[in-house]
Amino acid sequence: MKPIYVDNNATTRVAPEVLEEMLPYFSELYGNPSSMHSFGGNVAKKIKESRAKVAKLIGAMPEEILFTACGTESDSTAIRAALISNPEKKHIITSRVEHPAIKNLFENLAKNGYRVTFVPVDSEGHLDLDYLYRNLDDNTAVVSIMWANNESGVIFPIEEIAQAVKAKGIVFHTDAVQAVGKVPVDMKNVQADMLSLSGHKIHAPKGIGALYIRKGTKFSPFLIGGHQEGGRRGGTENVASIIGLGKAGEMALADLNQMSTRIKKMRDKLENALITAVPNTMINGDKKQRLPNTTSIGFEFVEGEAILLMMDEFGICASSGSACTSGSLEPSHVLRAMGVPFTAAHGSIRFSLSTYNTEGEIDFIIEKVPPIIKRLRELSPFWKNKI
Ligand code: PLP
Repeated sequence: MKPIYVDNNATTRVAPEVLEEMLPYFSELYGNPSSMHSFGGNVAKKIKESRAKVAKLIGAMPEEILFTACGTESDSTAIRAALISNPEKKHIITSRVEHPAIKNLFENLAKNGYRVTFVPVDSEGHLDLDYLYRNLDDNTAVVSIMWANNESGVIFPIEEIAQAVKAKGIVFHTDAVQAVGKVPVDMKNVQADMLSLSGHKIHAPKGIGALYIRKGTKFSPFLIGGHQEGGRRGGTENVASIIGLGKAGEMALADLNQMSTRIKKMRDKLENALITAVPNTMINGDKKQRLPNTTSIGFEFVEGEAILLMMDEFGICASSGSACTSGSLEPSHVLRAMGVPFTAAHGSIRFSLSTYNTEGEIDFIIEKVPPIIKRLRELSPFWKNKI
């Protein structure tokens, strides 16, 4: 059975064009980019081209791009660099709805002497900006706020937040892992010092990411070793994946328009059809200020995991909350922070589309899901009593 894959915020397929570009660097073009000979030098040239492509995707300069192993490494590198640059400052700020890559890092820092402010969100998933601004003080070392939420898809006003944080002279980092490739990101218009992105969300392989570091930002490497990446990250480069990320970045930029047109249209069709066909259903998060490929739908009085299992029988791959929180029966921290009622949070399913989805697939999901919910509700004592 061919999967109907609508879990693209968890990961995406590697684009065939990306794979094709990578393959020679596993076989005949295996030189080390640090070598003096031209066999290695040609690989270094290709890495340089990739850096320029990734920079172009986010309106940055090539020298502002550091290749890492993943979005998580980019996040950790950014925060640690900010803390090392401001050793006397012991206050850090983030939101309540970050991905575990930031959430767990900040919780860990809280156990290690840092005072952490977690900025709340409202029921539509919007950040309480006044709360954030009120909490900026002379002791604040770094503020890290995600560009777009991986579960609800809600987009935060990063341009405005960056401006306010920088006006106080505080380091600002944004986790843009879900935003890059889905909405325009142009670092010429955003004052952020650092930005994280990840390859496997934009049709590059897993295990490659990048950190944007604005020129002039104080930086300390997370991986200390060789001179690679201009001394900012030791370790022989993941050459093929870097080349894959460059190609994927180039394609993402060219396809950006499709996100706000064809893919958004399919997302809206799916969402509207399910909301109409299934009673007691709600959208989690603001419908307007949202990633064009994402919908998080709360089906009241059913368990998300049961829905996932039954969809899986038809090959439909989606997610209940973020991939990292699936497997636990607790509603995700994002939905809890938004105050989504327990009855709906438990039955929340995230559908996230990509360029590879087709109208036919969307029609298939629209046909299969309503009877699944109906069947599960017939079995549910909660539905019968509506408690
Ligand atoms: N940040 C966000 C918002 C994410 O959605 C993810 C992955 O789901 C990450 C960070 C982590 O990225 P990676 O899997 O490349 O470590």
